[in-house]
Amino acid sequence: MFKVVELDCQSCGACCISSKDPDADKLCHLLDTDKVRLGSDEHIIGDHIATKVDRDLGCACVYLVGVPGKVSCQVFERRPLACVLIDVGDKQCAKARKRIGLDG
Ligand code: SF4
Ligand code: SF4
Repeated sequence: MFKVVELDCQSCGACCISSKDPDADKLCHLLDTDKVRLGSDEHIIGDHIATKVDRDLGCACVYLVGVPGKVSCQVFERRPLACVLIDVGDKQCAKARKRIGLDG
């Protein structure tokens, strides 16, 4: 029997948090089209979005704001394709949640 778990991104944010990931500075890879959409922004470093060390969230995408349990993306409408392509409950989602200690 399957246990259906409803995931709410605004109470999660795991895929925007690198935590102990050694590739912390490579949290979000940007395509050229992503860069155009984001516009000239000091938070773009090469092909990636900068990360920040946040007291509450740990090492996270610089655009992630909030506190654990209630987060949001400051650039949601123009977020990179890599972020758009993560589906709630897919492999990447599960991996991200596990990485920061959610879902075992
Ligand atoms: S896609 Fe998954 S890991 Fe990312 S915020 Fe939503 S529930 Fe969390
Ligand atoms: S751009 Fe937004 S959705 Fe993408 S990693 Fe950063 S906070 Fe998360």
